Amino acid sequence: MNSLSSFDSLPLSPPLLENLSGLGYHEPTPIQAAALPLILEGKDVLGQAKTGSGKTAAFGLGLLQGLNPDVLETQALVICPVRELAEQVAAEIRRLARNIPNIKLVTLCGGMPGRPQEVSMRAGAHIVVGTPGRIAKHIRKELLQVSAVRTLVLDEADRLLDMGFAEEVMEIVKALPRNRQTLLFSATFPEEIRTLSRKLQKNPESVIVDTTLAPGIVEEREVYSKAQDKLRTLSRILRQEMPESALVFCATRQGCRDVAGALNTEGFSVATLHGEMEQRDRTDALIRLANRSVCILVATDVAARGLDIEDLPLVIHFDPANDPEIHLHRTGRTGRAGRKGRAYALVERRAPGVLSPEDLKPRPGSPPQPAMVSFLMNGGKKDKIRPGDIVGAMVNEAGLNAEDLGKIHVSDTYTVIAFRNGVQRKVQKWAAAGRIKGKRLSPMTGPSLF
Ligand code: ADP
Ligand code: MG
Repeated sequence: MNSLSSFDSLPLSPPLLENLSGLGYHEPTPIQAAALPLILEGKDVLGQAKTGSGKTAAFGLGLLQGLNPDVLETQALVICPVRELAEQVAAEIRRLARNIPNIKLVTLCGGMPGRPQEVSMRAGAHIVVGTPGRIAKHIRKELLQVSAVRTLVLDEADRLLDMGFAEEVMEIVKALPRNRQTLLFSATFPEEIRTLSRKLQKNPESVIVDTTLAPGIVEEREVYSKAQDKLRTLSRILRQEMPESALVFCATRQGCRDVAGALNTEGFSVATLHGEMEQRDRTDALIRLANRSVCILVATDVAARGLDIEDLPLVIHFDPANDPEIHLHRTGRTGRAGRKGRAYALVERRAPGVLSPEDLKPRPGSPPQPAMVSFLMNGGKKDKIRPGDIVGAMVNEAGLNAEDLGKIHVSDTYTVIAFRNGVQRKVQKWAAAGRIKGKRLSPMTGPSLF
């Protein structure tokens, strides 16, 4: 494995390099250290690394370095299995490209209105990130011209196949120039992935990095619980840990609802994330977890896999994962980037090392409440809203301190703003008459438990 301790020794352009230190990326992660030199040489790469290992920047820097911003043709195509993932990849590439003027990136994802995507595509894009069905459709309708694509990325390729996207992927690939770089990333390497690689890649270099969790960083515990006691056991775990944020995994959508409902009744701050929720609600649940206006997210694997949920202190396997890889993925939500994390699994067998619910020490007092509250503004990027506008209005007009504001999430049509729990009165008072670029602010309702 090629190892290097800084980005400086790589043939990256000065704007890309400067931006990296601005982002706090002082040294490459192991997958970046191993894959980036090969990617920058133009090689096809078959990469495997655990979630949260920095794969996006590994391919993102590669494709940005190869891009010619002066030519408004689609030069890079990134295919992701689900919309949330595509949006996170798009956001990360935009962050990495901050210092390069006029880079146009368009996301083409299912479950979203087609019209705005078509409008964006007509305006042109250097980079397209999306899900297979929608990308294939745009190629078919000749809204996406792919004859200039130099780099193709398949992110979470195992999941693309699991979700039955093989056909669409092949349809897209057939439309691409043969002379291109193909980067394939996958958390697992079943035979199907090796077959896909043989079909799509030329003399690929395999890069496999640390597929197991770093020992000692995540402390995993198993707790014995009879099926009918699981909710009570979960509550004891949460009351022992009193987490400011946590992810609880359930096997089914109904399970998510039941668990979330029970926790809510007990006074926990909780939201759900599962595949049958509206996209908007899924996005909002993730925003709330990230901006700390909800403490516990109860999720199914389908909805949560591959998402960049940042450093959570606690993951709970309420229902067991049905295979070890999924277990690893779930647990990988905690203890990222060297931080300490803890994972609990409820198990229905007693064995040495398995705790019993009585070993847990629930702390007295009410469940932790979120540090922040979310407000909603019905205006976003399309209305030229920028985080700076919001901070400005809040500090200059509403009388808040900058520290009273948390994450500001500006999406295309709406914005979610996190405020320190305690200042919502001030915000509401201002909002009675105050506007930002003509847009109103109101407390966000929910989270609903679906
Ligand atoms: P993966 O796709 O492998 O699951 P991501 O690309 O989503 O992982 O990266 C996980 C997190 O690590 C992101 O929040 C990203 O901003 C951060 N990250 C990536 N590269 C670096 C780096 N070199 N230094 C610090 N943080 C990084
Ligand atoms: Mg990723």
